Amino acid sequence: MCGIFGIHGHPAAAGISHLGLYSLQHRGQESAGIVATGSELGARASRAMGLVSEDLQGRGGGIGSGGLVGDIAIGHTRYSTAGSTTIENAQPMLARFRDGHIALAHNGNLVNATELRRELEDEGSIFTSTMDSEVLVHRIARSGAEKPEDKLGDALAAVEGAYSLVVLIGETLLAARDPRGWRPLVMGTLGDSHVFASETCALDIVGASAVREVEPGEIIAVDRDGLRSSSPLPPQERRQCVFEYVYFARPDSRVFGGSVDRARRELGRRLAREYPAAGADLVFSVPDSSNSAALGYAEESRLPFELALIRNHYVGRTFIQPTQAGRDAKVKVKYNAVREVLDGKSVVMVDDSIVRGTTTRGLVAMVRAAGAREVHMRVSSSPITGPCYYGIDTPNREELIAANLTVDEITAELGVDSLGYLSLDGMLESVPSGPEGFCHACFSGDYPTPPPADPQKLRFGCGC
Ligand code: AMP
Repeated sequence: MCGIFGIHGHPAAAGISHLGLYSLQHRGQESAGIVATGSELGARASRAMGLVSEDLQGRGGGIGSGGLVGDIAIGHTRYSTAGSTTIENAQPMLARFRDGHIALAHNGNLVNATELRRELEDEGSIFTSTMDSEVLVHRIARSGAEKPEDKLGDALAAVEGAYSLVVLIGETLLAARDPRGWRPLVMGTLGDSHVFASETCALDIVGASAVREVEPGEIIAVDRDGLRSSSPLPPQERRQCVFEYVYFARPDSRVFGGSVDRARRELGRRLAREYPAAGADLVFSVPDSSNSAALGYAEESRLPFELALIRNHYVGRTFIQPTQAGRDAKVKVKYNAVREVLDGKSVVMVDDSIVRGTTTRGLVAMVRAAGAREVHMRVSSSPITGPCYYGIDTPNREELIAANLTVDEITAELGVDSLGYLSLDGMLESVPSGPEGFCHACFSGDYPTPPPADPQKLRFGCGC
């Protein structure tokens, strides 16, 4: 998963993008970057591994421009994918071609990237990264169209899969979403400038006002003449990622036109109705991503919401550790239990999802060691039974606990007294504008596209 940001027509475009990326840090912690243009210096990039604060600050800008000038910029935060952690894979990409430059920042995964890349390589193209997104840059450069939006439309015509994009072609900023709308992308204004971001929390931080979503299949072009919208791709059924509401997006954001906080509260409330925990003393969350769902569960079940787990905020997301040993160790480094809250109590622990089971297994042991008498696990999403090919880095089936064990077996394996996962219908009915129009393939097996020819290789691609 990744975060993307773009702005056109602001003298501090790079600095504002940098600020915007701080609010998209949760979408990707592996690398961050900005490309700015619009001055006589042309397009320049600043990219580095690590967090937004580490990356760009050391490059002469602090929370500022990082030495980049011009009134047009795009930015990217990249999520870690096993095997692809290199600076060559940091975005935005920047390439020169006959008409000037192309810069591109991508959130999502292209399912036919391997085939498209092979075609391009057969014709002599040379790639500098292992990212699926690089095929888009080549395809834009090959288009014979005049207008930047038509070049991008040509490039996207043969592409299948998930993409929210911000692209610079010369001094035109383009924003685009795939026709199924898998990943979010919102448009806003800041004075006279146009702003695009994965989530509205990135508009808030820069003081921009949200205007509307970029629609699935839409390409918006912004240049010195203003804004143009086109929808050149064949329409598809909407398939917005339900996991954005469950886990990925920040609760202070609106994505797909709905509030993430409201969605998570409702997920928690439904969960309490589907799986009450009679006789429990209190509810707590696995912070931070399940806080809102746990609050919803506590409200609905009229149980006190307690802070039983304290999260160390200086440790990144456990899930992204490449080895199991690393993941096991990180649960302990990341969380600690509050004995005064747990001792002698029957407790409800709410998490948004169980993937491999590493986090739950570690936390249950920790919570019991802190004196909890009974541990009732409640999950505000359905069992994850399949990988995601559209941008969430869920592992292969072999590693997914719910793909291999029944709920009873998982209950025993995780050492909990009871376990309740929200039903698929309950999950889809809880999210704003649900239940239609969402992708739930990782829960239901209902994949909107054929699976990629080489999923393993895809995970070595953008992986965002
Ligand atoms: P696991 O420990 O593998 O069962 O992962 C479950 C934990 O990781 C939960 O606490 C989730 O909030 C979190 N999580 C779920 N999906 C992802 C993801 N794609 N990336 C990072 N963390 C995730």
